[in-house]
Amino acid sequence: MNSVFRWVLDLLYPPKCMLCGRILEDSREALCGRCGYNLPEYEGAPRQVLYFTRSAAPFFYEPPIRDAILRFKFQGREAYAAQFGRWMAVSVRDKLDGTYDLISWVPCGKRRKRKRGYDQAELLAKALAKELGTEAVRTLEKKRDNKAQSRTTGAAQRRANVVGVYRAYKPERFSGKRVLLVDDVLTTGSTLSECGKTLKLAGSGDLVCAVLAVTRQDHEKP
Ligand SMILES: [Zn+2]
Repeated sequence: MNSVFRWVLDLLYPPKCMLCGRILEDSREALCGRCGYNLPEYEGAPRQVLYFTRSAAPFFYEPPIRDAILRFKFQGREAYAAQFGRWMAVSVRDKLDGTYDLISWVPCGKRRKRKRGYDQAELLAKALAKELGTEAVRTLEKKRDNKAQSRTTGAAQRRANVVGVYRAYKPERFSGKRVLLVDDVLTTGSTLSECGKTLKLAGSGDLVCAVLAVTRQDHEKP
């Protein structure tokens, strides 16, 4: 960008830290120094998810990342996808390099997409794919809108809520191929597992998954 133009833009719309809103001195950065040093980076063995041979995640689902994800999902901050995609790309390169042939996502229902204006996992998958120099392709669609997983309680209810809600989309596109499936948050893994089962039954090869954040399990709590 032309530097004078950037200077004027910065004056009109001072760039803010996407996590805390503090005004940034350098508009090329996404985060202020304080947030950059306080990210809840995921540590420990990668989470195991049924039907997936590996998983990758840059963060735990904790502040300030959790708040940013909530704004991304419920307050129209779809522009966050680009930075989220950059963070996911780092963990995918590190943990899943060479394990997939194509990138796809866990789709949300049509009604929810219409209401929100976008499908958040689709945006993440596309941003991630762009970082990795490829494209994300649809492999699944939702047959019907179910209750949001965030409104269910307990593993059994979460599992029951997602059974049979996905179907394969154009399975000839991914037949025999290894798929990297993207979602925003991994909690019990019931949504990803249901999608994994659907892809496998439709003829996919091995599956791996990547999410932006993982909820910390009890034994991982500090
Ligand atoms: Zn900040």
